[in-house]
Amino acid sequence: MPLIKCENVSIGYEGQTVVKDLDFSIEKGDYLCIVGENGSGKSTLVKSLLGLKSVEKGQIIYGDGLKQNEIGYLPQQTDAQKDFPASVYEVVLSGRLNSRGFRPFYTASDKKEAFDKMELLGIRDLEKQCFRDLSGGQKQRVLLARALCATRSLILLDEPVTGLDPIVTGEFYGLIRNINRDSHIAVVMVSHDIESAVEDATHILHLQERALFFGTTEDYRKSRVGKTFLGGAHDGNDR
Ligand code: ADP
Repeated sequence: MPLIKCENVSIGYEGQTVVKDLDFSIEKGDYLCIVGENGSGKSTLVKSLLGLKSVEKGQIIYGDGLKQNEIGYLPQQTDAQKDFPASVYEVVLSGRLNSRGFRPFYTASDKKEAFDKMELLGIRDLEKQCFRDLSGGQKQRVLLARALCATRSLILLDEPVTGLDPIVTGEFYGLIRNINRDSHIAVVMVSHDIESAVEDATHILHLQERALFFGTTEDYRKSRVGKTFLGGAHDGNDR
């Protein structure tokens, strides 16, 4: 049983279909990159995976112990988030909100979880700092720790390296890689950086109104779609 299975899914706005006939699944430990040009429906699909937008057709099934509200989500950056007036610890801890249910307070285990994730991402020393004073890379680490607090099996990241410089971007990809490999947490990442996506992802979903491609990264590199979008950069250059 996959963590998430999309069966014949179409999604749109007011009768205008944006993506259609999506059939794919995400298994435990997978690293799926969703790629495609601006407007191809990546964010729309993300909203539906999170249950924030209903599908027009088909169904999204959650399994293997994953519930829809147990997806760790790192949203696209917005100015409002950048200026969030809370401490690093508070932002990380808020990842526990989904599982808190009707309890009006955080438990000791919620707090331990927040400290463990800050430790894992090397931000424990930033604990008391104000989120809005951090650098772009530090903010993304905090939001990643927050996402990890919300899940045991799957994180969903929407364009997480936008605005980060190349070195910080490389470091961030490295963190994701380690989390995926060491903690066996499945990763779903929306990205328009196809070149980097194929370096780390196990699977690629390439959207353009429908799925131009879904399958393993290895097959994507060999496919017509993959060859077209990866250009010459990878021809005869595969390690
Ligand atoms: P991507 O994330 O790949 O850039 P989006 O999912 O944001 O693509 O957008 C896909 C299409 O849906 C675009 O044509 C966009 O204009 C349209 N769209 C996105 N959000 C809305 C909305 N809230 N209402 C109506 N149309 C929308």
